[in-house]
Amino acid sequence: MNPIIPVVGTLAVVILMWLFFRPPFGKNIVRLNTDQRIVALTYDDGPNPPYTDRLLDVLAKHNVKATFFMIGNRIERHPETVNQVIAEGHQIGNHSYSHPLLGFLPPFYVRREIERTDNLLQQFNITGEVVFRAPVLTRFLPVAWVLAKGNRAHISCNVWSWDWTTQNPDKITETVLKKTNLGSIIVLHDGKAENRNANRSGTIEATDRIITALKRDGYRFVRLSDVSDRL
Ligand SMILES: [Zn+2]
Repeated sequence: MNPIIPVVGTLAVVILMWLFFRPPFGKNIVRLNTDQRIVALTYDDGPNPPYTDRLLDVLAKHNVKATFFMIGNRIERHPETVNQVIAEGHQIGNHSYSHPLLGFLPPFYVRREIERTDNLLQQFNITGEVVFRAPVLTRFLPVAWVLAKGNRAHISCNVWSWDWTTQNPDKITETVLKKTNLGSIIVLHDGKAENRNANRSGTIEATDRIITALKRDGYRFVRLSDVSDRL
């Protein structure tokens, strides 16, 4: 066999994998473009009462606004919680309809998952652009393709709280504070995709501590819509 064949084959596989997992088009936002002490708290996988409501109380206590990436089928189940999140001045984002690993699904399915939740959110009279984050941040080729065609960015993050693996508030707080810096987008979870009614007490307690510590360090908290010019 010509020795060039396995080399070319390996190279082709690497390029295809790179194209699939890191599509080099469209916009993927991992942090705010700033040199100021501002950060965005984001909460995925809700609405999930009563934990979302308890989280709202903590945010209100600190007068902090956040962005909630909600799952469509949870929105259908808990519209009153969605209304409460909006009434308290937070931003709502689209986190798909049923939280599948979108990045591995065909574009027509990706589009349907996104549109279904967009349509649901229209009932809540949300003004401005509805931001989107793929489940498990799987912005792979099909997702990037659909978003780019719709001229829509993907909102990722640069601080993973790992609160989907632990509800120990000490661990969540430590992980977030260690990684947060100027312009960080922090991902936490007020729900759990694979588990309805998941207890999120650890995330709520950690949120209280994270806000207290970051405020002490001079940080301000923004919704993504507050800084759309920095995305
Ligand atoms: Zn999620």
